[in-house]
Amino acid sequence: MEIIQDIQAFQQRMLAERQQGKTISFVPTMGFLHQGHLSLLEEGRGRGDLLVLSIFVNPIQFGPNEDFDSYPRALQRDAELAAKTGVDILFAPDAEAMYPPGCATSVQVSGLTENLCGASRPGHFDGVTTVVNKLFNLVQPHVALFGMKDFQQLAVIRKMVADLNMPVKIIGMPIVREADGLAMSSRNTYLSPELRQQGLALIATIRTLCAAAVAGQRDAATLIAQARDFITTQPDARIDYIQICHDETLQDMDTVDEHSVVLLAVRFGETRLIDNHYLLQPEPA
Ligand code: AMP
Repeated sequence: MEIIQDIQAFQQRMLAERQQGKTISFVPTMGFLHQGHLSLLEEGRGRGDLLVLSIFVNPIQFGPNEDFDSYPRALQRDAELAAKTGVDILFAPDAEAMYPPGCATSVQVSGLTENLCGASRPGHFDGVTTVVNKLFNLVQPHVALFGMKDFQQLAVIRKMVADLNMPVKIIGMPIVREADGLAMSSRNTYLSPELRQQGLALIATIRTLCAAAVAGQRDAATLIAQARDFITTQPDARIDYIQICHDETLQDMDTVDEHSVVLLAVRFGETRLIDNHYLLQPEPA
């Protein structure tokens, strides 16, 4: 596996690979890799001749009071995992090179970005769509893989790609969970054992709501009230949002149907966890 940090060298290399007719699979991440990221890489491996991973903690998608400085970073460890997973090229640019002084262009998807995480993290999705756009221009992928863990992000990226006619196929991959059901996240490392235990309330809520919906409870307000009652029994939980939304429009739904996804964002102490699941699909094991 090659590690490339220089942006120009990387772009030249990718253009040359494409000219040789290679099919390029791409997985963008912020690093501190876990099995969730690796599942994207494993799928990407089978979908292209060349598998590219980017590791870039993108400053412009973090708010001023968010965890950009403390976000876990472990490039050496990540490189070893990536090599074992069959990555061909690891692209790890510097923030200063990605955003040189005078950078004045951003990409904004309206509509899908105002609800859910967009409401509590103003500007977050502009940062995401801008960096993904830059990365797509540098990598020139045929296929790019994203996790459903970040359900809204996936919807926003699909919309950007469709609206801007970007020649890349977007693949959404299922959430990978720890054995006890906690959705894997680089941020789980922030949790004390006590808070991690409380964080299991997310998967417990998802399971309860899925069971209720499948059993016939289709009133979204009733399901959300049930979820709120349960989450607030956890002493350190502060709910950011619990919503039931349409999977494509991300608008709130009154009545559950096969498009309904429950999405949760809850802070446990300082750590904000997100999770989601289609209410009428089999509940996560
Ligand atoms: P991040 O490094 O957190 O920006 O995530 C990089 C990619 O990995 C995004 O597309 C995420 O949705 C995906 N991802 C993160 N956690 C998981 C998970 N537990 N299961 C599946 N995909 C994930």
